[in-house]
Amino acid sequence: MISTSIYELVPKQVERLSQRKFQWLTFPKELEDRYERDVSAFRLGRLWVEGLVAILLFNLLLFANHFLMSSVSWKDVLFRSGLITPVALLVNFAMRLRPGKVYREASIALAACWICYTHLYMELGQYALGSSYAQVGVIVVILFTNVVMRVQFPYALAVSIAMMAGDLVFLRLEHFDNRAEKVFAATLTLCAIAMTLIANYSLQREERLAYLLRLRGEIQSDELTLINRELHRISNLDGLTGLGNRHAFAAEYMKLWKQALTSRAPLSAVLIDIDNFKMLNDVRGHLYGDQVLRRVALLVQQALRGKGDFAARFGGEEFVALLPGASPEAAMMVAERIRKLVEVAGSPAVDNVQELPSTWATVSCGVATCWPTHTDLQDKLLDAADKALYEAKEQGRNRVCYSEMAMERR
Ligand code: GH3
Ligand code: MG
Ligand code: MG
Repeated sequence: MISTSIYELVPKQVERLSQRKFQWLTFPKELEDRYERDVSAFRLGRLWVEGLVAILLFNLLLFANHFLMSSVSWKDVLFRSGLITPVALLVNFAMRLRPGKVYREASIALAACWICYTHLYMELGQYALGSSYAQVGVIVVILFTNVVMRVQFPYALAVSIAMMAGDLVFLRLEHFDNRAEKVFAATLTLCAIAMTLIANYSLQREERLAYLLRLRGEIQSDELTLINRELHRISNLDGLTGLGNRHAFAAEYMKLWKQALTSRAPLSAVLIDIDNFKMLNDVRGHLYGDQVLRRVALLVQQALRGKGDFAARFGGEEFVALLPGASPEAAMMVAERIRKLVEVAGSPAVDNVQELPSTWATVSCGVATCWPTHTDLQDKLLDAADKALYEAKEQGRNRVCYSEMAMERR
């Protein structure tokens, strides 16, 4: 679930990070927390694999060093590996424990520093070439930390400064190189730091931007779902009365029919038609007529109390109620309730003192019940209810009639 404030933050942050000038990469707190939650599992997994590969490569290099250079003894190999491998493994295994952001980034940064310092310490004063190896080693560690592991930019900056400081101390103490060589070596390290920091920044900026765009896609599809839901709701509603419209009725009828088929329960339909509505419109005006329609719709809805009962505007001044599980007797009761409610409360108050009985709203109802056996019978139930409605009109209106269907009860 995407919160409202994130809805608002994402477009602003997309705009901010898309600008060409330098931008601080951290998002506002709520979005940053969400970003961390969403990406941390993937990042921890990546760090874990990269860490293992690096540890393996480091140890392979040590062995290669021993076999290729007679000056590096087994003791040297074990000493160097012993100082670095356990620390690196410890930090790496901690990634499996799903640590928080600060621990995750800081532990990698500290381990990188430890590796860098240990390496420099061991190369110090060894032999003339050692100084060059030391520089290469430092650059590899910088590359690994800033570009491969891609520790977050503030940590990358801090660890780079710390490594540069370590390298400067090393160069100061190293007595094999002359001054010019030392300056050159320091410049090389500085260049490596500058380039890897630029790479670190732009990679993280792209990662964050890609994340924001993905989130924006999710937000847009959420919004589309909401709009579709709303459109669906509106397209199923009758604008005047707020009841379901004919379209909604057709879908509901189909659903209830199928339910009745499987549950072998009866399904009743009540057609409700406002009496003499044309005259009521003529006498009181169409706006009053609309008010009556709204009232009748409300009363029909109130009269339905069964679970699954459904009412819709069938068209013009006609309504339909579907009563799943209702026997003919129960359906007649509901229809009678509707009729009575409209008789008592169906006419909105009028300023006009002349209350002609012919302008009081009443309804006639036609009721039919069936025990669905086949989809072809759907129309027959409505036909029967219509026949009953016709009968009610014939008998003088404001009444309820039932039409027996030529169908078998199950
Ligand atoms: P009966 O008792 O036989 O049903 O007579 P009736 O006048 O109600 O039936 P008739 O079919 O002759 O007239 C229906 C009227 O309903 C005609 C039409 O103007 C009116 N009507 C249909 N829809 C609306 C509506 O949305 N608002 C209003 N105010 N009137 C409507
Ligand atoms: Mg009618
Ligand atoms: Mg009518």
